[in-house]
Amino acid sequence: MRTPIIAGNWKMNKNPKETAEFVAGLKGKLPDPSKVEAVIGAPAVDLQTLLDGAAGTDLHIASENNYFEDAGAFTGETSPKVLAEMGVNYGIIGHSERRGYFHETDEDINKKAKALIANGLTPIICCGETLETRKANKFGEWVSGQIKAALKDLTADQVASLVIAYEPIWAIGTGETATPEQAQEVCHLIRETVADLYDQTTAENVRIQYGGSMKPANVKELMAQPDIDGGLIGGASLQPDSFIELLHYQG
Ligand code: 13P
Repeated sequence: MRTPIIAGNWKMNKNPKETAEFVAGLKGKLPDPSKVEAVIGAPAVDLQTLLDGAAGTDLHIASENNYFEDAGAFTGETSPKVLAEMGVNYGIIGHSERRGYFHETDEDINKKAKALIANGLTPIICCGETLETRKANKFGEWVSGQIKAALKDLTADQVASLVIAYEPIWAIGTGETATPEQAQEVCHLIRETVADLYDQTTAENVRIQYGGSMKPANVKELMAQPDIDGGLIGGASLQPDSFIELLHYQG
């Protein structure tokens, strides 16, 4: 069975001091790792502080971006090899903010996924449609197209162990959450896309998160959906109390 994965995506919101305080406040409050996997994704400038604070706990750490080369003359980029050496476990890639503001393409995201996997990190691959695409009722083909492009040339084993996050852009930071039915519909479609590309076993193993205004008030009903295995949470992951509540959504 798939272990639920609740991940905070802090985006560009905390400094190392705030990071250290936050992670110290999680000590003794993390869920049983066999029931819920806890992850925090933070900017590169906070990762070492987060890793130091999480040492010896069940908290896993994600980067929010990485380059596809391990080293070289790429000013300002983050090496996936160095992330691995530091002890970072996951890499969030393909977030709509990176696709939008930083012009990341499907091809870039596929290369980033491969670079993470080559270094032993697990990609969290984000996908999701705009409000316009949803209103035009084209979200299904849009999201499955993003998934096909992101997974290009990956093996079934590699795909089975990664994480896909469905984040409809119209629900990110807007307070407007997809209904559990809307989220389930697309997460199911993502699983079917993986089944078509690979096989049923791979599809049954890949974990799919929902993201977009997930919060303590709606986490339970979203997580009750059969194809939703976790959450990728922005705003509601920034306060320790709310993040802890999300981690303990099972009660
Ligand atoms: P919010 O939870 O703030 O809507 O952000 C979702 C998100 O983009 C997580 O990656």
